[in-house]
Amino acid sequence: MTTTVLVAGAGPVGLTAALALHRAGIGVRVLEKRPALTAASRASTFHPSTLGILARLGVADALLPRGRRVDALAWLSPGRGADAVMPMHHLAARTAFPFRLHAEQAELTPLLLAALPPGTVSFGAEAIAATQDGNGVTLVTADGNEHRGSLAIAADGAHSALRTAAGIAVETAPYGHRVLRLMTTLPLDALVPGLAGAGIAYVHDGPDSISLLAMPGLWRIIIRVPASVADEAALSPAFFAPILRRFLPSLPAELPLASADVYGVARGIAARMRAGRILVIGDAAHVTNTRGGMNMNAGIHDAATLAATIASGNDALLDAWEAARLRVTAEVLLARTDRAVASATAWRDEAVAATADPARADAWLVAAAMLDTCDAGAPP
Ligand SMILES: Cc1cc2nc3c(=O)[nH]c(=O)nc-3n(C[C@H](O)[C@H](O)[C@H](O)COP(=O)(O)OP(=O)(O)OC[C@H]3O[C@@H](n4cnc5c(N)ncnc54)[C@H](O)[C@@H]3O)c2cc1C
Repeated sequence: MTTTVLVAGAGPVGLTAALALHRAGIGVRVLEKRPALTAASRASTFHPSTLGILARLGVADALLPRGRRVDALAWLSPGRGADAVMPMHHLAARTAFPFRLHAEQAELTPLLLAALPPGTVSFGAEAIAATQDGNGVTLVTADGNEHRGSLAIAADGAHSALRTAAGIAVETAPYGHRVLRLMTTLPLDALVPGLAGAGIAYVHDGPDSISLLAMPGLWRIIIRVPASVADEAALSPAFFAPILRRFLPSLPAELPLASADVYGVARGIAARMRAGRILVIGDAAHVTNTRGGMNMNAGIHDAATLAATIASGNDALLDAWEAARLRVTAEVLLARTDRAVASATAWRDEAVAATADPARADAWLVAAAMLDTCDAGAPP
């Protein structure tokens, strides 16, 4: 096996690309700027489409026990219980994984790393420049070393240096809010009417809503923070206690918190996902809000479809891959996640209506599980 493809970034997307290429018999080298994998808490949701990809790569079995299986979604009204429950078993005819897995993305990356041959990932190797010619691409790392491959994959996150080196522009704009995450060990499913049996719930009151997401051993409560409220103020009970009283009146007045943080959300899409021998995937190509838990999943789909395209040996297919993934990003990923945030009430009404009609429930779940887009761009 020869080293032919370079990957910048050992996040979930870069490591998925690397493992898929390795499984296809293609040599791969990953350059990661950090000294080790990050353990930061970020994505929590693995959709059925992504679990299918991870199963083909041989890592799903190890990931499943590290997460919480979610068999149903619910829409609640404060103190009144469930307006609707969407069981995911509708998907059983379509996928071996008719459920979501809630697990930290930092549970996946060590599994991907362990499945790669030792030494595949160089840590402390920050890609800072790239040049390409008719035969290959050369990446320069901050330590002055040069790395040569036939192709280079930019999976180096939202501020991608490799995307910039390739001359690809990105249009990014912040959403008008940030997000507060409260992690509590309280068993919310035993305390919130209508939540039992659901691993994710959206609680709506008029035009406003919060989300409840079950993780192994704790629940995440997700609250929007208006631009006018500073991070420090959002982390104070003076901000969130009235919101909890409004949306979750059955909870004790003092919520035991395991941790809390505030993060920003932005919407962005790269103008291209290919510049000659440089391919751009994951957060380097697109970012969006976290409602629906789609952005990392879309990045893993970019990675799997790109690896299959490279493995086909037909470079002419790379343009078709790029066109398909850009279309999915613009017309599906960003469109769906924007809509879920911009018109949350319409999004809720549509989901609630779908729960009453098996055909609509099937279509709603296929879209939410990203089963309709995960293979876009893969070779025919
Ligand atoms: C709080 C939060 C919750 C989220 N929840 C969800 C969710 O539920 N579902 C979902 O699908 N998505 C979610 N997301 C989004 C998800 O975390 C990202 O989409 C995902 O991390 C993207 O993976 P990536 O590998 O493309 O980029 P990253 O995870 O950012 O990895 C990029 C890697 O590249 C490295 N790197 C950077 N620059 C260089 C360089 N120049 N050279 C070499 N290496 C470099 C970095 O150190 C990093 O290891 C969430 C995000 C946040 C912040």
